[in-house]
Amino acid sequence: MKQSLLFVPTLKEAPKDAEVKSHKLMARAGLIKQTSAGVYTYLPLAQRVLRNIEKIIREELDARGCSEMLMPALQPRDLWDESGRWDQYGPELMRLKDRKERDFCLGPTHEEIVTHAVRDYINSYKKLPLALYQIQTKFRDEMRPRFGLMRGREFIMKDLYTFHENQEDLDVWYQSMKEAYTAVFKRSGLETRIVSSDTGQIGGDEADEFMVMSEVGEDTISYCMSCSYAANQEFSGLKEGDACPRCGGTIKTAKGIEVGNIFKLGTKYSVSMNAYFTSREGKREPVIMGCYGIGISRTLMASVEQHSTDDSLVWPEELTPFDLHVIPVNYRDQEVIDNVDAFVKRLEMDYRVLVDDRDERAGVKFKDADLIGVPYRIVIGKDFKDGKVEFFDRYEGVKEVIDLESLESRLKTLYNKD
Ligand code: ATP
Ligand code: MG
Repeated sequence: MKQSLLFVPTLKEAPKDAEVKSHKLMARAGLIKQTSAGVYTYLPLAQRVLRNIEKIIREELDARGCSEMLMPALQPRDLWDESGRWDQYGPELMRLKDRKERDFCLGPTHEEIVTHAVRDYINSYKKLPLALYQIQTKFRDEMRPRFGLMRGREFIMKDLYTFHENQEDLDVWYQSMKEAYTAVFKRSGLETRIVSSDTGQIGGDEADEFMVMSEVGEDTISYCMSCSYAANQEFSGLKEGDACPRCGGTIKTAKGIEVGNIFKLGTKYSVSMNAYFTSREGKREPVIMGCYGIGISRTLMASVEQHSTDDSLVWPEELTPFDLHVIPVNYRDQEVIDNVDAFVKRLEMDYRVLVDDRDERAGVKFKDADLIGVPYRIVIGKDFKDGKVEFFDRYEGVKEVIDLESLESRLKTLYNKD
């Protein structure tokens, strides 16, 4: 891919209202452009990373029996009246009217729509379980949109809903989805902590949140120094120095960014929206539901927050928008252009390559390359005619001149190809 065609509008200065590292860096590196408070255009580099996150999610969910679909963002009021949420939701709900003065909202979440989609079909236990998800733009008129992609008014979410004949089956799927989420965040290069937001009551709703530990997080997590206990402070009320309710160890607190959550919904929507089925015993019962969200745009933000330096994005291997960044110092003479193009063409057979074909000074190209943060950089300079390039490994921070054969074997090792 030629950089001149990619549209990467890098900036010297971060926008004035950008407060946190990820927001500054994503704006400076040409990943996002704000259009209004909490609303962003995802530019090509960001879109490539989002697609990578989505790919990981699809692979992990599909492997566990979930099916992807796509529901409307535009949702009619009558379904929200059925669940009772049209009146309960408050000002976060983006409401609008059509030309006939009928009420609609822009979906902040899709329990109503998914329940409506399946309720006629699920008439018997034989149709259960079901696990349906989508990847879609969500709308919430947040009181404080901030920190770039962290709290948007329009953001990308994966939402999954599961349907079960009994609590035991929900428990099995809940556990399986917990494992899927753990895999998704691990593959995305994120260190997460699973934090219980359990109310603790017997029969009460069980919920877990996936947190990326970060100073800029809006949640406070109480966790135990001695065992794996961790809970959202909102629910646990535990402060630094308190005793762990599980093992008596010492509680510490830290800030976290919630990138995902899983929740045993129970029968709230099936009862209010009339999603009933005939059980094995021949009884009419409400379907038991679970719901599971991942903030995809927030995951992108959290990755940048967790990995990058102040002047350089650093992409985890499965998220990087490109595998290799090729920088010809001179891309002017036709002979050089032809040689570079041939070299890139060979690399492109195995890797996703970004080549800086712009007529810019080397210093400008290097600075942008640091901002963009592709893990491996290949600089083509004077030695290229002798079969040598400069190779930079951003993860290790090591730069060296190597010949083309060594480059080939190095890349194979790095990307586990043979
Ligand atoms: P929060 O407590 O951060 O407002 P939430 O409990 O409202 O989150 P859910 O409704 O469960 O979140 O949404 C699922 C996921 O969507 C969250 O775990 C989070 O990663 C993401 N998310 C929620 N609100 C936003 C937002 N305004 N901007 C970006 N991502 C969001
Ligand atoms: Mg919220």
